[in-house]
Amino acid sequence: MLPMGSLADAAAELAATFRGQLLQPADAGYEAARRVHNGLVDKRPALIARCLGVADVAAAIDLTRRLGLELAVRGGGHNVAGRAMVDGGVVADLSLMKGIRVDVQRGTAWAQGGVTWGELDRETQLHGLAVTGGVVSSTGIAGLTLGGGIGWLMGKHGLALDNLLSVELVTAEGQVLQASRQQEPELFWALRGGGGNFGVATGFEYALHPVGPAITGGLVVHPISCARTLLEFFRDSTRQLPDEHMLFATLAHAPDGSGMPVAALVTCHCGPLEEAEKAVLPLRQFAPPLLDAVGPMPYTQLNGMLDAGYPKGALNYWKSNFLTELSDAAIATMIDCFARCPTPMGQLLLEHFHGAVTRVDVSDTAFPHRSEGYNFLVLGQWTQPADTGACIAWTRETYARMRPFFAAGRYVNYLDDDEADDPVAAAYGPNYRRLQQIKGRYDPANFFRMNQNIRPQP
Ligand SMILES: Cc1cc2nc3c(=O)[nH]c(=O)nc-3n(C[C@H](O)[C@H](O)[C@H](O)COP(=O)(O)OP(=O)(O)OC[C@H]3O[C@@H](n4cnc5c(N)ncnc54)[C@H](O)[C@@H]3O)c2cc1C
Repeated sequence: MLPMGSLADAAAELAATFRGQLLQPADAGYEAARRVHNGLVDKRPALIARCLGVADVAAAIDLTRRLGLELAVRGGGHNVAGRAMVDGGVVADLSLMKGIRVDVQRGTAWAQGGVTWGELDRETQLHGLAVTGGVVSSTGIAGLTLGGGIGWLMGKHGLALDNLLSVELVTAEGQVLQASRQQEPELFWALRGGGGNFGVATGFEYALHPVGPAITGGLVVHPISCARTLLEFFRDSTRQLPDEHMLFATLAHAPDGSGMPVAALVTCHCGPLEEAEKAVLPLRQFAPPLLDAVGPMPYTQLNGMLDAGYPKGALNYWKSNFLTELSDAAIATMIDCFARCPTPMGQLLLEHFHGAVTRVDVSDTAFPHRSEGYNFLVLGQWTQPADTGACIAWTRETYARMRPFFAAGRYVNYLDDDEADDPVAAAYGPNYRRLQQIKGRYDPANFFRMNQNIRPQP
């Protein structure tokens, strides 16, 4: 255990040059700064370094190494496993680093590591441009992009990480590197899926695409009694979707707060409005819905539409896996499991992959999941601590019952960290060995280990 004096001395020395804020447990602002999206995460870092620039990040890394402490890195703070915080260690908190620059001529955006999707979309949409981003606006661009980046534009434009042009990274040695296809190409490969394993990403450069400003999207909600018909309709519809059209399905609870269980389709069509209108027509015609909220809307509105369903501070426990196919048996099991859901904020979600995201070779980026199909997510979410046991048990039971339908591979950004097997190795499949070698080159001592950790290999 480190004597607190040495941390206080080191922090005081750092404060002379640090531009951001250095927060220790007794400081005002510490309590708010240690809270992340998931209210279950209750860690108490020894120091939270709220960085304002690349030099602050390098200084936080240096201090952590000198004191022999553990470092966690916080972008948007949405990681459900709570890897953005660490007990007794140092947090490099980038959430004050909000710089964004859109280059309309080149069709690119550069953004700092503390930016959220809502913030980036706002700046890019000013010019009618966008890049694939998360479906909840408060999610950080950093963690989401480094792990993958599932979003409404991925059928047309691939994952968030497929649109990365370069990353600015501070390594464990405090070196500032630019990684792109031309510079540090192996590192750039690893950063596109390998998460926070290689350093602290301070800047991201994305390719942008013309999007909207109005696209077509929204929710179609049906009674839970229609769940089987809706999931079968979803399965049939996803066999022939154009790249522009994304479709997710969910068993959830009514968005009006009544707690009524429902079956719903969530959709986005980013093509011309007349084409989109025709494409979404079957979604509202296959059975009379309780609510039809699909229509033209600003892209920024679509990316904030689900925010209220995932409030900051709610308690979360998630498990997910890709499915080989959506068989009748998988549908029946989902319906049966959802009927036992103990929380009106819990849901089962199917995210369909097709189009551009599946036209990338498995070995082109560290992110390996390039087959057409479904990511299945058990999203345990609740507010009362007394419900924690029941909600975690339901999430685990549902996941276990769905296991017979699972394909190989899991999405690293949805991983929890309480599994006996090595879920990280399973998540990267054929790309894991190469990731281990790159980790061995850039972080051989595994300094960056508060993440979905890749074990370094020579
Ligand atoms: C409500 C909600 C909605 C979500 N929606 C989506 C979605 O639509 N699509 C999707 O793909 N995923 C989604 N996710 C999952 C999301 O991708 C992950 O939770 C991701 O880790 C969030 O990134 P963050 O920066 O907000 O997280 P943080 O918790 O800040 O960071 C997570 C981890 O990423 C790494 N990291 C973060 N910032 C940096 C950095 N600057 N440099 C190096 N490493 C860093 C660290 O290892 C850190 O522990 C969602 C999660 C939530 C809670």
